[in-house]
Amino acid sequence: MEVIFLGTSCMIPTKERNTSAMLLTFNEENILIDCGEGTQRQLRIAGIKPTCITKILISHWHGDHVLGLPGLLQTLGASEYSGRLKIYGPQGSKEHVEKMLQAFVFSNKVDFEVFDITKTRFFDGKDFYLEAMRLDHSIDCIGFSFVEKDRIRINVKKAEKLGIPEGPLMGELQVGKPIIVKGKKIMPEEVTYTVSGKKITYIADTVITDNCMKLAENADLLICESVYASEHENKAEEYKHLTARQAGMIANQANVKQLVLTHFSQRYKNTQDIEEDARVVFDKIVCAEDFMRLKL
Ligand SMILES: [Zn+2]
Ligand SMILES: [Zn+2]
Repeated sequence: MEVIFLGTSCMIPTKERNTSAMLLTFNEENILIDCGEGTQRQLRIAGIKPTCITKILISHWHGDHVLGLPGLLQTLGASEYSGRLKIYGPQGSKEHVEKMLQAFVFSNKVDFEVFDITKTRFFDGKDFYLEAMRLDHSIDCIGFSFVEKDRIRINVKKAEKLGIPEGPLMGELQVGKPIIVKGKKIMPEEVTYTVSGKKITYIADTVITDNCMKLAENADLLICESVYASEHENKAEEYKHLTARQAGMIANQANVKQLVLTHFSQRYKNTQDIEEDARVVFDKIVCAEDFMRLKL
């Protein structure tokens, strides 16, 4: 599982930072989260083919989070993109995409589908699920959690001792079913153990709200916007953003293991003030840079 930061600036791209986007890679899934202007070029620079993207999650429809969509869709339409691209966003996303596409002339269209998210667990796959919760920004905005499902593994030594042959019986145990070996019933809990899945949460533009803590609860990695340091708390409140300190408070209260701050105002020439501001309340912090990669 890996997260690649493709844009870490708020509002406008700077020389060092592009606007919001990140790619979450897990097995065959490549989930693009937000798609600021120029995201497809960022992908190229990172050595990632846009055609690998399987899903796009949109936090909200402010330009710095979505202006890269039409260009990316055009590129995918002109490429050999196999499969159907799934785009998920807050209510109204379907309409936004329709209107956006009306504004341009595309000669080839990629096969895609847009979903307005209406429930918390909006995608449930074989080995992971996705959750969304409403945040509190100046327009409808949602945060996301990617949750890997727990895996049941066989304790090989114990299995050998009990004489369980390799093959379908092992599979039965892994889905929690008892088996019979040499006339003896073996319960799954006798020979299996659980490997906990990892959780990654992304909190996009918002002021602090209960859902921030709920969404990030026990996350292994929390990626959180922090446009300002506390000295500009008034501005954060006015524009409905978080300060780094508040991001730290969320991490602390939600019991997350690691916090990555992103979405910085261009007023900061480096992230020292931002990092120090959050460090007052939370210790395990990294400030994101464009093209930074984090493996879990
Ligand atoms: Zn933003
Ligand atoms: Zn915004």
